Amino acid sequence: MPYGKQWVSPEDIEEVSKVLKGDWLTTGPKIEEFEKSMNAFVGCKFSTSVSSGTAALELAVQSLELPKGAEVITTPLTFVADPNSILYNGLKPVFADIDPETYNIDPSEVERKITPKTKAILYVDYAGQPCEIDELREIAEKHDLKLIEDACHALGAEYKGKKIGNFADLTVLSFHPVKHITSGEGGMILTNNHILHDRLNMLRNHGIDRPTMDRFGSRASYAYDMKLLGRNYRLTDIQAALAISQLKRIGLFLEIRSRLASLYNKAFNGSELLSAPVVRSDRKHAWHIYVPLLNKDINRDDFFSFMRSKGIGVNVHYIPVYRHTYYRNNFRISENNFPKTQEIFDRIITLPLHPQMSKDDINRVAECVKLYER
Ligand SMILES: *Cc1c(COP(=O)(O)O)cnc(C)c1O
Repeated sequence: MPYGKQWVSPEDIEEVSKVLKGDWLTTGPKIEEFEKSMNAFVGCKFSTSVSSGTAALELAVQSLELPKGAEVITTPLTFVADPNSILYNGLKPVFADIDPETYNIDPSEVERKITPKTKAILYVDYAGQPCEIDELREIAEKHDLKLIEDACHALGAEYKGKKIGNFADLTVLSFHPVKHITSGEGGMILTNNHILHDRLNMLRNHGIDRPTMDRFGSRASYAYDMKLLGRNYRLTDIQAALAISQLKRIGLFLEIRSRLASLYNKAFNGSELLSAPVVRSDRKHAWHIYVPLLNKDINRDDFFSFMRSKGIGVNVHYIPVYRHTYYRNNFRISENNFPKTQEIFDRIITLPLHPQMSKDDINRVAECVKLYER
């Protein structure tokens, strides 16, 4: 029983086959169709699809054109792609400790880390629960910082009644198979800013100023101009067709995830082993992952091995960034500076959660938890 898994339907496969039989395998009409469907779902103006969530993060940072030596504040309890995207751009990641209840970056810790070099905040909606966005926006306004929201967990989440994708300057999505919808690999950057959007469209295509489709046809010219140092981070039409078809079922995916999370919550009510995740009342959780907190006297690694031995694909999200060799070797960051991340990391466990799980699957996981309790 894996912690996350895609759900590919016969219709999804049909849509992909149609593209394979057509003229455009990449840079074709499915790309725009996907971007328009996402804009409609999120209610934002623009989006740029790219080859992965990591590529989306890298280009998001690049598109801000921050000055050399700029610092970007982010969370240590995330996937390494977040701080890596700052490094790819030759900038400096600075870590701010988390809120021990939501595991999201703590705005007051962000404020403590601001220096004259700070130019942006890259925050992550952990597990699918939006961060303290109003507080982060206030800090950004006060110190003239840009905001990037890593919403790889949070497609369909809401903050104060509004969908994620409408708050930060740039919002990043991933379509890896464990995420809400998949395109195999894939990612996207959402924005309401047309300047950033134009730049992102160039950056994903070598920094070239015209989309490939515009260069075909009887009246098109061969001319193009490379204006920025971009990459080839394009999504293919094959992938976009899968993503479009998946996005049609996002409502169902979100509903099932939320229902399964409630079943876990109910099963763990009164548990002496762990407590259910804390959800703030003013936001809608997208439930990418279900991460309860083990009680202090439980050995997480022992519990992890026990669950794996029972065939339950538990996981840990995440090993804090500063514990990885690369970061330890290249940055002077002491884990003593992140007491909350340290404590939470020792006590978190990700339980299986994906839309093809049944009520019985949830019960089986809950039974195994109870077995360990005894
Ligand atoms: C999945 C994920 C990424 C990276 O996305 P890929 O599509 O795998 O490159 C980045 N940040 C977070 C929080 C993620 O969950």
